[in-house]
Amino acid sequence: MNSQLRREYLAALGLKSWTLRGKQGLAAPPLGIAPAAAREVSAARESGADWDELRARVAACTRCSLSATRTQTVFGVGNPHADWLIVGEAPGAEEDRRGEPFVGRAGQLLNSMLHAIGLAREQVYIANVLKCRPPGNRDPNLTEAAECLPYLERQIALLKPKIMLAVGRIAAQNLLRTEKTLGALRQQVHRFGISQVPLVVTYHPAYLLRTPTEKRKAWDDLKFARDVISRV
Ligand code: SF4
Repeated sequence: MNSQLRREYLAALGLKSWTLRGKQGLAAPPLGIAPAAAREVSAARESGADWDELRARVAACTRCSLSATRTQTVFGVGNPHADWLIVGEAPGAEEDRRGEPFVGRAGQLLNSMLHAIGLAREQVYIANVLKCRPPGNRDPNLTEAAECLPYLERQIALLKPKIMLAVGRIAAQNLLRTEKTLGALRQQVHRFGISQVPLVVTYHPAYLLRTPTEKRKAWDDLKFARDVISRV
């Protein structure tokens, strides 16, 4: 990516004066030192499903009450061979309408965040913990998350990402089975599932739109994640 384009993406993040540093300028992430967030992957429920079968199962799913209020399921989008998996919380109104995660203003900011570290949206895979929109964009409850997570876990098993980026508190807490705050989970390398995929936590772009002063921290998280994957 040329420097002018990168400056434009950084400007979208409100970071006009920042420049990407090389690996030498970054503190080495504590790979493997963060408390293990490993959990037994419960992908067995969906084991054996390939991408098409899994997509069909999700589209027909009525395992929780969100099936009654959704317009459509939002399976996920992107490169099925991607190194990066971006995981958000759940579809919002626009995603529910269009059937694609991270669209609208938050999606545009996510695209800018990715571009700032040299990634096009088409190069990554983007999914949510929940495949259906909770009414009024409320937080998902425990039952909904538990019923839906096996779909994401099967997506992870098929994708075999080199890194996961959990965006937002709800995604991070569900993936890591913790009630810790997002602030407490940032800037660490967590591990997900039996394959121990490195997982880094950052802010949700919708939150960054409401709280632009936190964009600098999100930028730190992206650089941190980029450094982690360079060491995988
Ligand atoms: S949120 Fe997940 S578990 Fe619930 S109906 Fe939608 S796809 Fe099924």
